[in-house]
Amino acid sequence: MLRIDLSKRKILKQPLSQQLARNFVGGRGLGAKILFDELKPRTDPLSENNILIVAVGPLTGTSIPTSRCVFVTKSPLTHAYLCSFMGGFFPAELKFAGYDALIVSGKAEEPVYIWIKDDEVEIRDAKEVWGMQTDETEKKIRQETDPKARVACIGPAGENLVKYACVIADRRAAGRGGVGAVMASKNLKAIAVRGSGQVNIADPETFKKLRKNLFKEVTSVPQMLSRYGSSGVVSIMNELGVLPTRNFITGVFEGIEKISGETFDKFTIKKETCFSCPIGCGQVRVVKDGPYAGFETVGPEYETIVMFGSHCGNSCPEAIIAADSLCDKLGLDTMSTGYVIGFVMDLYEKGILSKEETDGLDLRFGNHQAIIEMIKKIAFKDGIGKILAEGSLGAAKKIGRGAEKYVMAVKGLEMPGYDPRGLKGHGLSIATSNRGACHNRGYATQETRGWPWHEDRFAVKGKGRLAAINQNRCCIIDYSIWCLFFAFRVNFEVYTAKFLPAVTGIDDFGSVDELLKIGERINNVERAFNVREGFTRKDDIFPERFLKEPMPEGNSKGQIFEMKPMLDEYYEVRGWDLETGIPKREKLEELGLHDVAEELQRLGKL
Ligand code: SF4
Repeated sequence: MLRIDLSKRKILKQPLSQQLARNFVGGRGLGAKILFDELKPRTDPLSENNILIVAVGPLTGTSIPTSRCVFVTKSPLTHAYLCSFMGGFFPAELKFAGYDALIVSGKAEEPVYIWIKDDEVEIRDAKEVWGMQTDETEKKIRQETDPKARVACIGPAGENLVKYACVIADRRAAGRGGVGAVMASKNLKAIAVRGSGQVNIADPETFKKLRKNLFKEVTSVPQMLSRYGSSGVVSIMNELGVLPTRNFITGVFEGIEKISGETFDKFTIKKETCFSCPIGCGQVRVVKDGPYAGFETVGPEYETIVMFGSHCGNSCPEAIIAADSLCDKLGLDTMSTGYVIGFVMDLYEKGILSKEETDGLDLRFGNHQAIIEMIKKIAFKDGIGKILAEGSLGAAKKIGRGAEKYVMAVKGLEMPGYDPRGLKGHGLSIATSNRGACHNRGYATQETRGWPWHEDRFAVKGKGRLAAINQNRCCIIDYSIWCLFFAFRVNFEVYTAKFLPAVTGIDDFGSVDELLKIGERINNVERAFNVREGFTRKDDIFPERFLKEPMPEGNSKGQIFEMKPMLDEYYEVRGWDLETGIPKREKLEELGLHDVAEELQRLGKL
């Protein structure tokens, strides 16, 4: 592990504790435990006292699709636990340089970037790149360091402390929750890395055989992801009647053909892949003519299409490509940015915001020129952008006039691209996710794809159990760290139980039950972190629209989200207190989290 104190300009290398690795494995697990242990409760996320952990997993850097890292910190958007994932090549490079985790603390006096070349670590002056877009920053830092360096950096939005600013490397984002703002608050523009090492594999022969089987299994069937990327999911969600449209008023979009995977496919010029992935879901798309000619992006992914498309009532695919590209360059999370713009359009349409208050922009749903203008305003905190840079909940509080009622978020994190009324188990995972409204910490593929088993998506009973199981299962992906897109193509629990012992030599990782228990342990540590910050059952809640307004049309028509019975069942299964949602001491003890229980007891939470 590498510790970098930017205030003291101190760099320290430490061995990874064996106990930490056995109990929390890597990635999200490592990050969660370090954050719980080292961050003082109620720390201001944008103060120098916050810490930022960048962790890879034991499988990262091997020749399977596991080049992923996670940025773990306290979120400036939600004030809760935050883990934000990034793929591409940066994570593998960090592993090749010899590190399982970086822990960045303090604040540099002036803008800096961290340059890691194997054992050599430097804190370098970043004044020249401060103010640059992410693409320019990566290029410039490569010129200054190594043409093959991988650079994870922030853009102007991060520098301006937009609360949902992201980190970008090779056009891949650690998108959610404001990691970019945390980096900026430390005067940290970028982390550049070049490694010449390799991952030591305990049993290379077994690994080779497993890899062969894995790749054969994945490549033997045509993958929608290879052809369309995640944009292929748009039509499926519309058909299910859960496609967020005009601030979740409905789940069906009349302009669906214009924002479908097939439509975006026409803009594709080539594919891009992450390190060691046979799928290659990154679609490089370019607008060739019209007002958005010249914009190029990798994507847009499903979530981006939804947020800048149906959620904003916008059926112009060229504008969605432009919005995606602009967000990446300015360093903005496309999901929160798109959500916030659609939200403010809803307020405008309802007459809660006037044209004078939107800097003269006509924010009716579907006005794609206004969407592009708003992105720039948010990144530079210009005019109304200053208010919207706070996130939808923060903005609503400033706007007043009942605006909060129209915020579709959980714990302050804007909703992803699924209306929970038509996907109850998936919805419950989103409502109870430790980082706020997140679809990936317990994705219920059972309801969307009938995989790996089928669940009735409208059923209420059993969904508490399903959400808890899925959150523990997805945690296996997040601590190993697999790419989730890839993992959902195979029986990933079983593969992980084979790959982890082969790579680490730790036989305990060979049991799926043990892997699930580790997942449960990590979910509980994250929960305990949030409890310490003041979060309780009242925060595992959806906005009123989902609870009281039946879906008006489409294949989820008539559905509402029955929160109470599902949440009660979820807490029961989790072993958490029904009234408060706080993990019980017995549960924490059962998971070996004695120290966490002691800490909560000390604070009067147990
Ligand atoms: S499936 Fe896509 S996101 Fe995942 S590793 Fe492969 S190219 Fe990267």
